[in-house]
Amino acid sequence: MFDKVLIANRGEIALRIQRACKELGIATVAVHSTADADAMHVRLADESVCIGPPPASDSYLNIPSLLVACEITGADAIHPGYGFLSENAKFAEILEDYNITFIGPESRHIRVMGDKIAAKKTAKQLGIPVIPGSENAVDTVQEALSISKEIGFPVLIKAASGGGGRGMKVARNPEELSLALSTARAEAKSSFGDDNVYIEKFLTQPRHIEIQIFGDGRGNAIHLGERDCSLQRRHQKLLEEAPSPALNDEARAKIGITVAEAMRKLRYRGAGTVEFLYENSNFYFIEMNTRLQVEHPITEMITGVDLVIEQLRIAAGAELSLKQDELKFIGHAIECRINAEHSHTFAPSPGKITYWHPPGGLGVRVDSGAYQGYNIPPYYDSLIGKLIVHGQTRNECLMRLRRCLSEFVIDGINTTIPLFSELVKHPDIVNAMYDIHWMENYLKNQKQ
Ligand code: ADP
Repeated sequence: MFDKVLIANRGEIALRIQRACKELGIATVAVHSTADADAMHVRLADESVCIGPPPASDSYLNIPSLLVACEITGADAIHPGYGFLSENAKFAEILEDYNITFIGPESRHIRVMGDKIAAKKTAKQLGIPVIPGSENAVDTVQEALSISKEIGFPVLIKAASGGGGRGMKVARNPEELSLALSTARAEAKSSFGDDNVYIEKFLTQPRHIEIQIFGDGRGNAIHLGERDCSLQRRHQKLLEEAPSPALNDEARAKIGITVAEAMRKLRYRGAGTVEFLYENSNFYFIEMNTRLQVEHPITEMITGVDLVIEQLRIAAGAELSLKQDELKFIGHAIECRINAEHSHTFAPSPGKITYWHPPGGLGVRVDSGAYQGYNIPPYYDSLIGKLIVHGQTRNECLMRLRRCLSEFVIDGINTTIPLFSELVKHPDIVNAMYDIHWMENYLKNQKQ
């Protein structure tokens, strides 16, 4: 096992990873920008290194600074968390050259899954069902039109290097195609420096269902069930639950087995998530994330497996700690993403937290780096914490969430807590009757 791990991230996920390291007796190194000198992940680490000014490109994404931080602290591995450098194949490769372990998959797997066109081709070859659409990048309007006619409108233009829901445009008919193609391409270029786009059938009422997997890089792989992340705004997840209320045991087992088998063939190493849209009892692959996900705690709650400890063990060369048939799924879990944003306009709300009182009690977990007196810097993602509840049933989770949301006090800034308080009482959420478009419609109706 490692002696010292450097965590190349910030906020709740940096703390989450530190906790796993501490339980294993591994020393931790926090890195931080000048804006994060007071952050909890810095305070609780064994050592910390300031790696640059606030913009992420000058600090959390600055590879030479991270290498220097490893050198001066003697860290033997880096955990990238999610976001930032977690899916940067070049970074993983550089670490290999410097003999520092990257706690994640092999760079070749990060690279192939990072290009969504290549990822879809690979998934198809591995026997995973994919969404109908173009096989390759689409260049001209004529090409786009012929593919769209073949698969039928509406269609979605997506960026090959896309992420975070950016670079996606819907065309409902041939007239909308040319504009959708050029705007998706421009957005892709400015967000990802790559204007390659491809076309997919736009599904009108799917659920977003993703499968958590783990591989040991030697041909063993297991799945840890699914998460339903259909409640989204602008393709960004807001609330996630496991298991999915939309699946029966048969559908669940079938997709889990298919994905685990594909990961065995790939000889995948580490944690990964294979994302699908699910409509009319069919699964359609959309992408694979080769890292830990924000919503990983709901899987931990229903399986009792610490996913970060498992990542650390596998990166250190161990075998998977569990066989598929040893895994037990217990109860239900729901996560609400607490963002420092206005709960209805979603305007960012950085600033000082003047009062902080998180909920507690049976089946309650709050993953957060926030505290009373903490000043949320304006430079980063607005996620300041995650409220996760576990219960024997979905209904018990909803009851627990209502109680927790009324107990949670965060003063001085706006948060998404009031929105969740409404959502957990809404009949469609209570009855689990929602798809990926539900949230946008809900917000639109509220404005009228
Ligand atoms: P990103 O990498 O930007 O997150 P994804 O491919 O994972 O992009 O898609 C993000 C979200 O966008 C999905 O969860 C879903 O809500 C929506 N989406 C993606 N592809 C489609 C599609 N073909 N039809 C309808 N919605 C889609």
